[in-house]
Amino acid sequence: MNVSVVLFTADLRLHDHPPLRAALDGARQVVPLFVRDRAVEAAGFAAPNRLAFLADCLRDLDAGLRRRGGRLVVRSGDLVEEVCKAVTEGDADEVHMAADVSAHAHRREERLRRALEADGRRLHVHDTVTTALAPGTVTPASSDHFAVFTPYFRQWSQQRLRDPFGAPRTIRVPEGVGSEELPSRAAVTGVSEGLAEGGEAEGRRRFGAWLRRGIEAYEDRHDDLAGDATSRLSPHLHFGTLSPVDLVHRSRAVGGPGAEAFVRQLAWRDFHRQVLAARPAVASADYRTKHDRWRTERTARDDIEAWREGRTGYPIVDAAMRQLRHEGWMHNRGRLLAASFLAKTLYVDWRVGARHFLDLLVDGDIANNQLNWQWMAGTGTDTRPNRVLNPLTQAKRYDPDGTYVRRWVPELEQLDGPSVHEPWKLRGRERAAVDYPDPLIGLPEGLERFRRARGRDS
Ligand code: FAD
Repeated sequence: MNVSVVLFTADLRLHDHPPLRAALDGARQVVPLFVRDRAVEAAGFAAPNRLAFLADCLRDLDAGLRRRGGRLVVRSGDLVEEVCKAVTEGDADEVHMAADVSAHAHRREERLRRALEADGRRLHVHDTVTTALAPGTVTPASSDHFAVFTPYFRQWSQQRLRDPFGAPRTIRVPEGVGSEELPSRAAVTGVSEGLAEGGEAEGRRRFGAWLRRGIEAYEDRHDDLAGDATSRLSPHLHFGTLSPVDLVHRSRAVGGPGAEAFVRQLAWRDFHRQVLAARPAVASADYRTKHDRWRTERTARDDIEAWREGRTGYPIVDAAMRQLRHEGWMHNRGRLLAASFLAKTLYVDWRVGARHFLDLLVDGDIANNQLNWQWMAGTGTDTRPNRVLNPLTQAKRYDPDGTYVRRWVPELEQLDGPSVHEPWKLRGRERAAVDYPDPLIGLPEGLERFRRARGRDS
């Protein structure tokens, strides 16, 4: 066989890339193709932070290919049409791509398969490129997917993962397949000031540093908001500049409780993907509905706006929301308590919060975002759907001396120690000197509203 196309999607790397490996094994020349899918952009998924990170990733991928004698072909438009055009221009026989889990990805894959087959070409879809374990590899006896994480993890842990592949040495790309200019980060407007850098080289550098210096203390420190002691690899996993299979292998090689806890989080990522693959509607519908009559954009506009702006009057919630806006990323503990506050204290529809997160998160991801939101809203896979995170208790536990709040809420930076978590206790001149809102809602009142809505068992 002479030419194969490798369609890159959420797997923007050269190391441990099964579709690329299969294409190189079977063909003399390869067209490495990325299509800026108009349908994804039209669906509002092309948030500035992710577009900027994507531009970094594509440039880095192109640079890596050029070092090996190749180049990246970038196109924009309807994905199926653009792949078919590239196939014709390169006179390719086959297309290789990674499997993905969303409804959009499934539809797109089917359309592409039909279009290629109608033209006498073949589509190969590879598993374990964007997940460590493919959805459906482990299932309970009575269902097509696991609805609870713990039994899933037990089985997930017992599976043997495939060995990772190295990056290819050389790649030959046929002439005559035209490319658009690569997008650039500088051309994207509305990007968060503190947005991280994208690309496989940066992802590998971060992961290397994480293995040397971060992973060991992960189990003890992952909830320390100010310590910022998680890997921050989520955008790299989202764009596939790092391979989940490789991450699991290399973390296990380090070993110890930190590595075990980190691998467990990677399994959470696979867990949500197997739920979404089996139930694509949960991107917008409740996984397990409780028939909540949520407050919405129409009935809770001011509360929602205060939450988005980080002006709820609860410093820990506001710090998390401001970190999100500034960095396009938020600490997991911040995500949990900000989501709990919106869904269970303000009793606002989880979809409103999930949408805002997707507008800003550089790792914003349908499986992880929607299903974590549902978990926290009590409509998802949490076995204790009525749990409510009290922002004050959370603040005292996970930001005991208030450093995280002072970092992100400058209006409160003159307040010492944990007093920063309760600015409403200030009196007189001290209170007047602080330009910070009173709490939107009292905590007992929020809890009462939630209890009434959910019934007596909350
Ligand atoms: P680490 O703690 O270093 O964990 C390593 C990796 O494990 C992460 O990069 C991530 O890929 C995976 N992981 C960790 N926690 C989870 C989890 N709870 N569920 C699934 N995978 C996990 N994660 C996203 O990648 N995209 C999202 O859009 C997203 N939205 C979220 C929304 C809410 C309301 C909540 C509560 C969590 C969300 N998460 C999301 C999960 C988690 O918060 C992030 O993956 C994590 O904070 C990323 O930081 P890190 O890479 O330093 O994580």
